[in-house]
Amino acid sequence: MANPAIANSPSLSTQAAPVCWLNGKLVAPEHASVSVFDHGLLYGDGVFEGIRFYNGTAFRLQAHLERLLLSARAIALDIPYAMEALKQAVLETIAAAPEQNGYLRMVVTRGPGPLGIDPSRCHSPQVFIIADRLQLVSERVRSEGAKVIIAATRRLGADGLDPRIKSLNYLNHILARMEATHAGADEAILLNSAGRIAEGSADNIFIVKKDELLTPPVIEGALDGITRQVVLELAENLGIKFRETPLAPYDLFTADECFLTGTGAELIPVGRADGRVIPQCPGPIYQRVSTAFKELVKREN
Ligand code: PMP
Repeated sequence: MANPAIANSPSLSTQAAPVCWLNGKLVAPEHASVSVFDHGLLYGDGVFEGIRFYNGTAFRLQAHLERLLLSARAIALDIPYAMEALKQAVLETIAAAPEQNGYLRMVVTRGPGPLGIDPSRCHSPQVFIIADRLQLVSERVRSEGAKVIIAATRRLGADGLDPRIKSLNYLNHILARMEATHAGADEAILLNSAGRIAEGSADNIFIVKKDELLTPPVIEGALDGITRQVVLELAENLGIKFRETPLAPYDLFTADECFLTGTGAELIPVGRADGRVIPQCPGPIYQRVSTAFKELVKREN
């Protein structure tokens, strides 16, 4: 991958082994395994979260766990741990992590069952958390901005799978990311079936036009990103005009500024979109929001 860390894709560190929590206890990574009959593996039947921790504290943990619990409810998956127990599991995992700053992957699978997609005979959902280092976004991308393409692969529409469900089905995002890599770009933007902008392969997208911050509404096919929510909160606090509105590729190509948001990526400026230069990169609104984001992380963690 040209830039593996543009979005929510932590690379497995070679320096320190990741830490794994599986179904109630910390286990050595080599013993952290689930069955080949797990429907999470067989059919992508499950949900997950990517959570960042700074100074040993998980950022916006409550919001992430709420999203996880709602995703699970939406697919009728009973997580065998309540909110408080999940919080404890996260604390335990972070405490065992090799560093104070890193990334958590929390996954709940449907669990093992007979072959066939019917989940009714899967009785043991598997819950695991991996804590690892996060490969940071390259200096080139931070200073020059990311190059994005518009992928031919479309985002599955809200009429197919509600984009608020953060499920283990990422194949069209993966195909879009492969397109970006083949094109020598850093990230791919997926359109919805109507040809409007949905989101990046693992991040949300914002543009700025005439000093107004714009992002597609979730119903257009965007994950209800935690970082996206934080950016909207910050825009409000900073007195920046903002609006959730459908966006066409035209709006991206003619934007004054563009940036991507995600747990792994944080805030990344975009410098080129399908070969068009985004004139302000990093732009003034990006800089204000990005500075406020860093201050917020310091305050909360
Ligand atoms: N969209 C997709 C498809 C994602 O996978 C992610 C990463 N979780 C995001 C957006 C950004 O969401 P968040 O800010 O919650 O990480």
